[in-house]
Amino acid sequence: APLLLWFRRDLRLDDLPMLAAALATGRPLVPVFVLDDETEALGAAPKWRLGLGVAAFAKRLEAAGSRLVLRRGDALAVLQALVAETGAAGVMWSRLYDPVSKARDQRVKAGLREAGIGADSFAGHLLHEPWDVATGTGGFYRVYTPFWRAVRGRAVPAPVAAPARLPAPAVWPVSDDLDAWRMGDAMNRGAAVVSAYVHVGEAAAVARLERFLDGSVDSYDVARDLPAVEGTSGLSENLALGEIGARRVWHAAWAAFERGGAGAETFLKELVWREFSYHLVYHSPHITTANWKPEWDAFPWRGDSADAERWKQGMTGEPFVDAAMREMYVTGRMHNRGRMIVASYLTKHLMTDWRIGQAWFADCLIDWDPAANAMGWQWAAGSGPDAAPYFRIFNPATQVEKFDPKQEYRKRFIAELSRDPGREALAFFDAVPRGWNLSPAARYPMPMVDLAEGRARALAAYAARGGAG
Ligand code: FAD
Repeated sequence: APLLLWFRRDLRLDDLPMLAAALATGRPLVPVFVLDDETEALGAAPKWRLGLGVAAFAKRLEAAGSRLVLRRGDALAVLQALVAETGAAGVMWSRLYDPVSKARDQRVKAGLREAGIGADSFAGHLLHEPWDVATGTGGFYRVYTPFWRAVRGRAVPAPVAAPARLPAPAVWPVSDDLDAWRMGDAMNRGAAVVSAYVHVGEAAAVARLERFLDGSVDSYDVARDLPAVEGTSGLSENLALGEIGARRVWHAAWAAFERGGAGAETFLKELVWREFSYHLVYHSPHITTANWKPEWDAFPWRGDSADAERWKQGMTGEPFVDAAMREMYVTGRMHNRGRMIVASYLTKHLMTDWRIGQAWFADCLIDWDPAANAMGWQWAAGSGPDAAPYFRIFNPATQVEKFDPKQEYRKRFIAELSRDPGREALAFFDAVPRGWNLSPAARYPMPMVDLAEGRARALAAYAARGGAG
């Protein structure tokens, strides 16, 4: 009898504990991807990107003598039906840790076991399972630096290499047609623009890692803060869908670190920020939906508004903010410096609830990740664990002087500020919804908020509450 391998955010064959365990049984393997309600609910850009990832993974499996069986519907019902069709002995998958996936997976596991079907989940998404890293008193970490110290010296299991072939069943179950799922529909105009920037699939992810470790890693310390420079790995897009394993990345970067690679330690630290975000999400799942510090519930956050709409449109009149928002529509990603600045601007200068920004990113980022996005927004807003204190308000103007002194970033993405706008600045207008009615010929807006006034307003609201958090 075969085993079903239920793939979700682990679209790879390398460094996959579930696969190693499945191969060890000697059984034929039936890889499955299910478009269930939880997956249907993804934002436009992540869903489109997932569709590309699934297509690439299906090809990867075919090259290994296997297939990816696609089915649509409730995950438990689909898996039960597939077990009945194939006579499978059980189902295996790699664990996820965000509350939505966790609730589904617990339901699936219980349902399968009740029906007498084997159901086993494995590590693979992270360096360490969130419950394996604990403070001296057995609790979880709320602050990054001690978490880093706890993880730094911890042995990360060595990745197992991809098998050349997967044992196939005698008869394959029928599969849906991926195109018919139309996973890119909500992305409409953006897809044509963002397509030029994606690096889809396992081979592309490995190439990215190698290129980074052969080159940019040595200048990573400095260059990673400069949004006009390609100084980071770009791996978030692939890590989000598991097209590369975090353990594989860790071991490669650790080797670079031991060779004396200057930026490699900083890079390892960033990888541990990802790990920390999952640690937090696992131990305090409300981080994805509610103020992590409940004191913040009483803060007078503004809801959606015309101001927030201008933020979304990259039309605030604050060039660093707008350049970053436009970068997101053109490339599907945003530089980390940009993410911090636009998040600070929305939550402080515009006093808007961080969840509005979080949801918008979840709709627009091809590297959307439930844990990193939630932590990033709560960090910026001040409501999260180990967050930027509320009174620390990024000033986009001084940030430009520091991190984009030649104003290359704004020129790259804001057509209205250039006499001879480049390809990417113009592509923004092709990527955004037609209904926004934006034109490169229009005049660039004046700042919608005076930076000093916006700052004072936010601080006054904060002080009126006696300083939350
Ligand atoms: P590199 O600098 O090459 O870093 C390597 C890897 O480390 C990244 O791929 C990522 O997995 C991890 N990493 C780096 N910085 C962080 C961080 N601050 N938090 C968590 N992990 C990190 N990252 C996402 O992957 N998805 C998101 O949806 C996301 N939303 C964010 C929202 C806000 C408001 C903020 C401030 C940050 C967010 N981040 C998110 C974190 C960070 O901006 C990106 O991980 C990073 O820009 C990705 O680029 P890179 O792969 O070139 O990173």
